[in-house]
This record gives sequence, structure tokens and C-alpha cells, in this order.
Amino acid sequence: MADIKRPQMKPHVEAIHAYVPGKSKSSDGRALVKLSANENPLGTSPLALDALGRTGKPSDYPDPDATALREAIANAHGLDPARIVCGTGSGELLGYAVQAFAGVGDEVLFSRFSFSLYPLLPLKVGAKGVMADNRDFAADVEALLDKVGPATRVVLLDNPNNPTGAYLPRGEVVRLHAGLPADVLLVVDQAYAEYLPDGVDDGGFALAGKYDNVLVTRTFSKAYGLAAERIGWATGAPDLIGALNRLRGPFNVTTSGQRAAIAALADQGFVRDSCEHNALARASFVSAIDALGNHGLRAVPSEANFVLVLFEGGVSAESAMHAIAEAGYAVRHLPGQGLPHALRITVGTAGQMAEIADTLRRLCEGGK
Ligand SMILES: *Cc1c(COP(=O)(O)O)cnc(C)c1O
Repeated sequence: MADIKRPQMKPHVEAIHAYVPGKSKSSDGRALVKLSANENPLGTSPLALDALGRTGKPSDYPDPDATALREAIANAHGLDPARIVCGTGSGELLGYAVQAFAGVGDEVLFSRFSFSLYPLLPLKVGAKGVMADNRDFAADVEALLDKVGPATRVVLLDNPNNPTGAYLPRGEVVRLHAGLPADVLLVVDQAYAEYLPDGVDDGGFALAGKYDNVLVTRTFSKAYGLAAERIGWATGAPDLIGALNRLRGPFNVTTSGQRAAIAALADQGFVRDSCEHNALARASFVSAIDALGNHGLRAVPSEANFVLVLFEGGVSAESAMHAIAEAGYAVRHLPGQGLPHALRITVGTAGQMAEIADTLRRLCEGGK
């Protein structure tokens, strides 16, 4: 076949299966309420919306260094703006963290039930993804450390975890870091950290402030309600930030995105409301699921804005997903992640969650 005359994709690129986003349509094409992508059911802070609406100067490139946004983030979290880099969503920055430190022959380690983007990141750079087993749907520090070898370059930890909602407390994160060689990068992906109760902190910022091998990522896509604008950020040692700055596009965060994020940071009341709403709606949904325990339904304890519901009795996750779609909602079935018996359901409004709970109750009780 020496005479094939077309561009030949690199095998490691061909091996990539594209990221599967949350659905918003039923199989017969009806629009569904999207509880499949962990978006904020309260929407966006009015201050951020106002900032988005203010006309800027679209003919000019954005501030390439997102200077004002980095300062606002630093102020909000007590960090050094020189140790912050902004990205087109934190997903982009996670990719650069892997690209900067892993390549052909290297390994990138993560837990079995963690962010579905993680297995794609090593593939993009020709590295190998390695999965460690979980314990009770949470990252297991022993299992992760067991998989660390001479080829390990990066460890990815989402905390709270997506799709299970499990949270690894500070002591466990410290133990994981302490067990890693100093030349292995630990990335603590805190996409859902805003949903943790007041005062609960996995210590990621403290580790990233102290050690050269810890990077923490955050996003404006979840509690801040700005997923459409694609804004995330990372903090860590100057060399880590330098690596990400080398790889990112020079104008990667738009002017409107920078402005909206600054306004969103200034409206902590909105974040608090989002959090309080989430805690209440999640608790009542979980008790509705608990009440169906005799039908084999079980909610994995969640610290995030979604609940992983396990179907371990006569009702399958698939039939539940169809019934929920009939009722008008898209939720996430994750057989590709080894969770054919589970649905990840984003916490929507109280009314939406009550309707989904009713749908599941009727399905369990065999009626309509
Ligand atoms: C949603 C999510 C992100 C954030 O993605 P963005 O690119 O910032 O929108 C990062 N990590 C995890 C685990 C997530 O679930």
C-alpha cells in the first residue's frame, strides 16, 4: 500500500474516540430538559449577564494575559496572580498539563470512575492512560499509589469526583501527594469545589502553593453558571504555570468571557444561592431515591451538583433513562465508563427533581 496518496492520521490520533457530551434530545428528536451536563439550574449571575451584554470592542484582541481576571481570582482565593493561568475552560488546561509533562512511552494515571475526559488526554499526546480501582465509587489512594511506576508522569484527580460525586478529604489528598515521587505532577481538578460545604477544603491550594508538582484547576462552568463562555483557570508553581502558558493559545480567553468571569466573582451571593439550592434539592432527591431502596435503587453520596443513582434491582438504568426521557429530561447513562447500571443525574430545580423522583417511583411500582 505504498502508493496511498492521502494524509495519514497519526495512529495515536486515530485511536481517540471523541468526548461524548451530555444529550439534550430524546432518541425521537424531542427537546429535553438537560440534566446531563452538570450545568447550573439557576442560570447565571445577573451581574455576569450584564457584563456579557455590555458592548466591548469586538475588533480588538482580548488581553492575552487575562490580567484583570487573574487579579480578581487571586483576590477571591488569596492566591498570587503570577501563579494563575486562565484557559478556554479548565478542560483545555488539563490537556496542556498532560501535554507538557507526558508523551510517547509515558503514563498518565487516574481513577476508574473519574472524569470521562481523562482517558482521552494521554491518547492525544501518544501517552498511555492507566486506571486505578476505586473504593466505594471514590478514588482510592492505595490503589493509585500502587499503579505509580517509573513511566508515570501525571496523576489526575477530580475532587469532588465526576461522575460519582465522591469527595476525598484533605488528609487523603495529602497522603496521595506524599506518596508520589517529586517528579510526578499531581493535578487536583476542583471543578465542583464551590459546592462543598463552608470550610470544607481538600487542601489543593495549600499543596499547589508549597510544592513544585501540584497543579489545581477550577472552572467558571459549574457553580458560576458560565459554561458557554468557556473559562477555567489553574494555579501552581511558576514553572507549571510557565509550561501551560507556552502551550495555550495567546488569546485563549475572550474579552466577554474575561469580563463575565470578573463580574461573576464579584457576585458571591449568586454562588452561595446556587450552593444552598443544590444542597437542599440534592438532599430531597437522595431521600426519594433512598425510599426506593427496596427496588434496588441507591444514591452514591454526592458532594457535587449531580447524583449517581445505581440500579441494582429489577429496574434497569436503561429503562429508567427511557422513562425519565418520556417525562422530558436528559440524564447521563455511562456504560462506556463501566457504569451500565447507573445514571448520573444533574441536580436541577426542586420541581424538576420531584418530577424525576415521581417518574422513578412509578417505574419501580410498575404502574404508569
Ligand atoms: C465540568 C468539569 C470540568 C470543567 O470543564 P470546563 O472545560 O471548565 O467547562 C473539569 N473537570 C471535571 C471533572 C468536570 O466535571
